[in-house]
Amino acid sequence: MKSTAPNKVVIIGAGYVGATTAFTLMHSGLVSELVLIDIDHKKAEGEVMDLNHSLSFLKPMTIKVGDYSDTADADIIIMTAGPSIPPGGTRLDLAKNNSKIMKDVMKQIVEYTRSAIILVASNPVDILTQVAAESVGYDPRKVIGSGTVLDSSRFRYLLSEHCGIDARNIHGYILGEHGDSEVAAWSLTNIAGTQIDEYCNGCENQCTKIDKNAIFVKVRDAGYDIIARKPATYYGVSMAIRRIVESILRNENAILTVSSLQTGAYGISGISLSVPTLVNAEGISKVLELPLTNTEHSQLKESANTLKEILSYALSA
Ligand code: NAD
Repeated sequence: MKSTAPNKVVIIGAGYVGATTAFTLMHSGLVSELVLIDIDHKKAEGEVMDLNHSLSFLKPMTIKVGDYSDTADADIIIMTAGPSIPPGGTRLDLAKNNSKIMKDVMKQIVEYTRSAIILVASNPVDILTQVAAESVGYDPRKVIGSGTVLDSSRFRYLLSEHCGIDARNIHGYILGEHGDSEVAAWSLTNIAGTQIDEYCNGCENQCTKIDKNAIFVKVRDAGYDIIARKPATYYGVSMAIRRIVESILRNENAILTVSSLQTGAYGISGISLSVPTLVNAEGISKVLELPLTNTEHSQLKESANTLKEILSYALSA
């Protein structure tokens, strides 16, 4: 049975991240039509067959293998194509290779649409978010990187474990690059409206004070730590993507640490990175300029500089 609800999402790349994202979105009830595109057509076909076989347990929707003509009436196009860092490879190699893939994909998309929101998850996500917009002159407010939405979730989870409190009641942001130069905004981190240091001072748990650096390192290195144990990470990022998709399709004005092209907030411009951002049906609605400490602010600027260097390498011949 075909659904008539309007929400159409195209996923480019049917690897670990793309297939898991499709599965996660199927369960969300947010999407009425899901299209998978992959240069490995057989892989996309296999994933679609497998996904379709669970439809009798879910709300009706259409899931199919497609091509770029399917982007014409898509609400959101999710980019998950291209590999992770290969064994022995570097982040810089990845930046160069995946920038080429991103440019090629965008060239094909703009033959059909400039109105869909482009949601980039492929790495390095900040670089590819910028390449997606700038390579074809796409409206940068419609190009969103998953950024540090996943990292912020990892941060909240680790704090919830430490404090023994539901992660949904812990608020905190990881800012900057989704990667090695990211920054934990400890000064904005709070539980039940109470700044984390103050909360810890009054906490009845007998633990010694929170080891902020240990928690931050676990967040920052989570991807590497998982890939040391299995070939890829995909559950966390697929839930982060689902959350962003939800905020767009439901026009939520949600505050998420997505990556977008910065135009001056925090004294940063000309580079995509993550800061708390209002996300709604238009895409990037507004970047929030929140009060960071001087140290956090200079770490964020340092992260922007690191990304600028990676971007210029990625775009060099
Ligand atoms: P994967 O190798 O399993 O899948 C990549 C897929 O892309 C493959 O099926 C491949 O055939 C396809 N592909 C390659 N070039 C293509 C093209 N030009 N057009 C269409 N499809 C193409 O990799 P994965 O584990 O799914 O990871 C995908 C990307 O997501 C990687 O860049 C990875 O680093 C990134 N990732 C991001 C986050 C995040 O938080 N942003 C988290 C995990 C992974």
